[in-house]
Amino acid sequence: MKALVYHGPNNPVFEDKPKPVIQKNTDAIVKISKTTICGTDLHILKGDVPTVVDGRILGHEGVGIIDEVGSGVSNFKKGDHVLISCITSCGRCRSCKKQMYSHCENGGWILGNTIDGTQAEFVRIPYADTSLHHIPHGLEEEALVMLSDILPTGFEVGVLNGQVRLGDIVAIVGAGPVGMAALLTAQFYTPAEIIMIDIDANRLELSKKFGATQTIDSSAGNERVIQKVMELTEGRGVDVVIEAVGIPATFQLCQHIVKAGGHIANVGVHGKSVELHLEKLWGHNVTITTGLVDTYTIPVLLRTVQSKKLMPQQLITHYFKLSEIMKAYHTFSNAAKEKALKVIIENDL
Ligand code: NAD
Ligand code: ZN
Ligand code: ZN
Repeated sequence: MKALVYHGPNNPVFEDKPKPVIQKNTDAIVKISKTTICGTDLHILKGDVPTVVDGRILGHEGVGIIDEVGSGVSNFKKGDHVLISCITSCGRCRSCKKQMYSHCENGGWILGNTIDGTQAEFVRIPYADTSLHHIPHGLEEEALVMLSDILPTGFEVGVLNGQVRLGDIVAIVGAGPVGMAALLTAQFYTPAEIIMIDIDANRLELSKKFGATQTIDSSAGNERVIQKVMELTEGRGVDVVIEAVGIPATFQLCQHIVKAGGHIANVGVHGKSVELHLEKLWGHNVTITTGLVDTYTIPVLLRTVQSKKLMPQQLITHYFKLSEIMKAYHTFSNAAKEKALKVIIENDL
C-alpha cells in the first residue's frame, strides 16, 4: 500500500509500505476513506517530536471502513463505517477508568507517533472496541474527520476546562483549526461575546463567519491587544481565555486579559518555559487549566453533528487525493499564504 512516511526532519516520502496486519486479537485493520493533516504533523516534520522515528507512517485523524478484526473485537465487524480517535485507549487501565484516555497505560497518543498512522491506504487500530466509533448512517464523512482530534481538543481542553457559561465574555488566542474548534463549540453555552485574537487577518475574517463577535489583530504586539480587550470589557478583562497557539507571548497575553475569578484554559503545546505572573494572579482567584485531549466527547460531538448543531465541515478549505498528499502538505505548511485551515485527503488508491 502507499503511505506518507517520516524519514527524519523535513523528509516525508510518499512510498510503498506493507499493508498492516492484525498483531493482537483486539486490533482492527481500517481501510482509510478520508484523512487530514494536523499542526502536530508539521511539528513532527520539523523534528520536534523525538518519539517519531525514521520509517513511521504519519497521521492520527481519519474515517474509514473496517477491513478485518481480531478475534477479541466484539463491537465492530468487517464493513463497518468508523471514526478513528486520535487517542488509542485500552478501556481497562487506571487512566481509562477515569476517562483520561490520553494517559492510557497501553495507548494514548500513539497513532502516527509510536505506531504507524492514518495517512495511508490502511491503518492498524489497537484496542479497536474502545478506540473507534461507529458512524451513524447518512452522516458526511469529511465533517467527521474533524472529530478525530481538533473538535474534541477545542471542546474538552478549551471550552469545558475553561468552563464557558451563558453570558460569558470569552477570548480565544489563536484562530487555527483548534482555536476555531473552540469557537464553534463555545457557542453550545451561548457566551455573550467571543473575541478572536490572531496575527492572520484572513483567519480572523473567517472566524466572524463562525460566530466571533469581535476580532483583534495581535501582530502589533500584546500591549495593543490588552488595551483593546480592556476597552471591550469596561476594564475588567474576560471570563474565559483559551490559549490555542502554544508560545510564551500568547500565554503571557492570557494572564493579562483574564478577569478576577476567570479561567485560563491552555490548549497550545508549549516547547519553551513560560513566565507565570503569580505575583499578579495570586489574589485574582484565577483558575489555570492544562490538558491533553482525551476524546471522551466524540460520542456527544457526533450527536451534535447529526442534529446539525455543529457543522465542522466549515473548517475544511482544501481537498486532495491520497495520491496528491505531498501537495496537501505543501498547502497546509503554507497555511497563511494558501488561506488554508483544514485539508481533506481522500483515499483514491
Ligand atoms: P495552528 O498553528 O494552525 O494555529 C495557531 C494560530 O496561532 C495560527 O492561526 C497563528 O496565526 C496564530 N498565532 C501565531 N502566533 C501568534 C501570536 N503571537 N498571537 C496570536 N496568534 C498567533 O495550530 P492548531 O492546529 O490550531 O493548534 C493550536 C495549538 O494547539 C498548537 O500548539 C497545537 O500543538 C495544540 N494542540 C494541543 C492539543 C492538546 O491536546 N492540548 C491537541 C492538538 C493541538
Ligand atoms: Zn492532531
Ligand atoms: Zn487504558
